[in-house]
Formats: sequence, C-alpha cells, structure tokens
Amino acid sequence: MTDEEISEQVLWIALENAKKHSGPPNKGAVLGAVLAMHPDLKPKAKEISSLVSLSLKTVELMDESEKNEKLGYLDNKFSKNRISKSVKEKERRLPQLPFSEKGVVMRFAPNPSGPLHLGHARAALLNDEYVREYGGKYILRIEDTDPKRVDPDAYRTVLEDIDWLGLQITDVVYQSSRLSLYYENARQLIEIGGAYACTCDNEEFRLLKGRKEVCPCRSQSEKETLDLWDKMEEGFFKEGEISLRLRTQIDHPDPAMRDFPLFRILNSPSHPRVEAHLYPLMNFSVSVDDHYLGVTHVIRGKDHIANTCRQKFIFDYFGWQIPYYRHYGRMGIEGVVLSTSDIRKGINEGRYTDWDDIRLGTLRALGRRGITPAAVRRAVLEIGIGETDIQFSWENLFAKNKEIIDPVSHRYFFVPDPVAVKISGTKPTIAKASLQPSDPLQGSRNIAFHDTVYIPSVELNRKIEYLRLKDLFNILIKIEDGTISAEYAGNSLEEARSKKAPIIQWLPYEENVPCTLLTPEGVVKGLCEQGVLNETGKEVQFERVGFVKIDKFDKGEITAYFTHR
Ligand code: GLU
Repeated sequence: MTDEEISEQVLWIALENAKKHSGPPNKGAVLGAVLAMHPDLKPKAKEISSLVSLSLKTVELMDESEKNEKLGYLDNKFSKNRISKSVKEKERRLPQLPFSEKGVVMRFAPNPSGPLHLGHARAALLNDEYVREYGGKYILRIEDTDPKRVDPDAYRTVLEDIDWLGLQITDVVYQSSRLSLYYENARQLIEIGGAYACTCDNEEFRLLKGRKEVCPCRSQSEKETLDLWDKMEEGFFKEGEISLRLRTQIDHPDPAMRDFPLFRILNSPSHPRVEAHLYPLMNFSVSVDDHYLGVTHVIRGKDHIANTCRQKFIFDYFGWQIPYYRHYGRMGIEGVVLSTSDIRKGINEGRYTDWDDIRLGTLRALGRRGITPAAVRRAVLEIGIGETDIQFSWENLFAKNKEIIDPVSHRYFFVPDPVAVKISGTKPTIAKASLQPSDPLQGSRNIAFHDTVYIPSVELNRKIEYLRLKDLFNILIKIEDGTISAEYAGNSLEEARSKKAPIIQWLPYEENVPCTLLTPEGVVKGLCEQGVLNETGKEVQFERVGFVKIDKFDKGEITAYFTHR
C-alpha cells in the first residue's frame, strides 16, 4: 500500500469515527482502528500517530457536507478493506476449523417442507461464513427423499430465503435426482455384508432390539439380500412390508444405533419431482452425498449427534473418510411460531395471513417486519458454534438491525391517535426537516404549515402547556371548556430546550395519509407524512415512535410494521 493510500485510510477511519460520535474524532480510537486493520504498521506507530493528528485537523476544517462526501468516496474506495476488517472480527468470534488449510467443502441441507426460519438461518450462515473464510464450495442440498415432508412450493421459497440471506452457494443438488446413486451404493453395501432386508413387523423388531436380540432376517446371506433388494427396486413390496437395515451392533449401548433402517417403501404420497417408491432414509442419503460431494466439514445442531453416530457406521463400512463434525447447542426462540406444521395449519385455518405473517419466526416474516439479513447474520455469528444451549436474544437482533438501518432509513412523522389543534399568532410556513440527520446529502422533506396541525392525543394527556413542534416552532397549548387551541410561542429551539419542552411530531391538517401501524402490542391507527408513500418496502424511522417497515399503500391507507425502537 502506498503512503498516500495509508493517509487516505487514516482519514477514512477518522471520518467514520467523527460520524459515529457526531463530533470530533477520538484520536486513540482512530489510531487503534488503523493498527487493528494494519498490524504490520505497528512498528511505525509513531509515524501513524502523527498521520492521525493530521487527519483530525483535516476533519476539523471540513463542514458536514464535505465530510459526508469524502466519507462516501473513501467508503467506496476501501470497501475491500472493510471486508478484511470484518473477516478479522469474525476470526475472533468463530473458532478456527481444523483441516481447513486447503479450503473446505460444506453444505446447507434443508428439507423442502416450508420456508426457512431462524433455526435454519443459524446452520446456513455458520457454514456460509466458514466457506467465505477458507474458500471452497458451499453446496445447497435439498433433502427431499421423504415425500411426506415435501411441500412443492418450498422448492421455490427455500431458494428465495437463501437469496435473502445472501448465502454464497456454489452448487445446488436435489436428493430426489440422486436416487440411482443411493440404490447403487445400497447394492454395494449389501455385497460387503453391511445390510439386510428386514420383513419383520416394526413393533416386533423394536421389542427384539430392546432385548439386544437379532431378528431372523439378519442371518440372510448377501445373495438372499440382493434378491430381496432387486424386488424392492422392482416394486414387488408394498409400503411397510420391508426395509433395508444396516448391520451395526445389536448390543450397542444406545438402542437407536442397533440395526437402524436405510431404505423404505412409500407408495403415497407421490413425489413432486420423481416417480419412485423406494426411498433412502436420511442417514443413508446424507452419508452417500457427504462422501460423493466431498464434504469436508459438517456444522449442525446437537440434535444431529445421534445421526452423526449412525452416519459414521455407514462411512466405516465403505471405508470412506469421515468429515469433521461439529455440533452446536440448542437455541430456544421465544415469542414467534417456528414449527412448519403448526404454521401450515394456522395458515389453512386462517389464523395466519401467510408464511410471512409477522407473528412467525420465518425469515420472510422477519424481512417483512424490517429485520435485515445482515442483522440476522451478525446476530447468528455472534451466537457462534458453542455447545451450550442458549436462548435467542431478540434484543440483540434488534440492536444489530438498528446499527444497520439507523444510518440509512429516512425519518418521518407519524401521529398516532391524532388530535387537531389550531395555532394562532403565526403565518403559514414550510418546515424543512432532514430525511437523515446524520447525512444531509440524503435530502430533506418540506412540511407545509397552514394554521392547524395534528398532534398525538397522548401529548395533551400529559397536560404540558409548552411544546415544540419538531422542525417548526414552539406553541402554548390551551384547553378551555374542552376546546383545544394553541398559540405561537416563538421559534427558538434553545428556548424550548432550556425549558425542557417536549419536542413532538406533528402533521399538517391538510396534507397527510392515514397509516395503520401493526405492533406486537396491537394496532395503532394514525396519520403520517405523504413522503412515506415513496418508501413502500423500506425501513424508515417514525420519529419518537421507532423503526418501521412500510408494507403497502392500499385503499388510501399505508400499512407499516413496527420493527423496534
Ligand atoms: N436435512 C436435515 C435437516 O434439515 C439436515 C441434515 C444434516 O445437516 O445432516 O434437519
């Protein structure tokens, strides 16, 4: 890097720091950030320190718009460094994976049973982050070999959700397209004596297994099993009549490991992608795929520990190299509905509007209420891959989301439960309010005042007489015989501040739009600025209320979802 580039980067960090504190940058913090980004410059700390002092002087001489302009330019120029900076932060958060020197092959393997939810996001993002870090392949594997758990729409919705999450998927495979690979490997497994075809009744088998006793089918020769397997492939057997089982240890201490099934027959429902009746169970298809796709590392929840043990049995039979497994703890998520079957039932019964109903924990519901994918990523990476069970923190997700949307979301007035107040003693005027106070370049909004404004009824209940209408002027409220009126009380913001007057949002009587705000506590009806009409699908801040996502404008009314304060 040239000296000039280093000076520019120092200025960049100083400007960022100034923006963060809305004041002069902090020298120590800027120096620390520069050295964290370029540890190689540590021996030259003295020179860098004088560069920082110089930059602080430069920043001091700039006005707000110059600062913003320069910051925008430097942000663009050094965005790559920002990525490397975030890699460093991440390195501190997520532990290193062994055997990753030559890159990794990892996978995200959802069942297409419905749109993805927060639980999926953890697996998806952790694996994604490691592939970004070490390089390699990130395979999306659609695990659709159980037609009972396939929702045809989910083939589309899962991809949409993955897109929303911003996963860097390199390959996509569908298990339903790989049935012949599973059949071939089953045949090989039978040939090496690893599996037998079991015609015992399930309950009978369960009782035998509980007593560590083998079932009569286990003594089949390879030839007998192959004959039965041929018949299974041909469709000779009906659902429930036969399964292919792995020969493990019938006296294994964990009954779940004893001769578990690998394949079963299913005659209904039909599969939306293939015509089939013989399906692998997940431990077989997952093992075969992890091997043939060259998966090196598997990061998944503790609920898969038993599956990992089962899959190791299969890997051992074939003599395949076992991937590196890591199981993270359980994550409790309160306050939203996550279960795909409960959601589907709720939608069918009309209790939820759709998969993006904001009471649900689906990613599309989060997006609809204004949570950004970047915030989900930050929150999930911070949780990490620890084995301890944890409770998902909504507060933390909201804090991360605020970091992201606060600097870019436009500000507007929303007046809940509006009350009209006529103001005497002044002339019509236009208030100029900033769209984004930290960045004047984003422009401003003009709000016309004629003679009457709407203010939130709650302000009158407070019985405070002296108020400031934000970005307009101060007023004195009078309530006489139940009639509300107000008087112009000067323009001075300083005076309002010194009197500790509430500075409240307002709207012109003539120009406003009805707005319904849906919050976790219920529906709030009110009015908002007309400018909000340009913000459909975006997050904005309703000043003094909180961040909201503008959902739609329909039948003359805006609907917004409350995101967080
Ligand atoms: N399809 C499995 C699931 O969604 C994941 C399989 C795996 O991670 O090995 O639970």
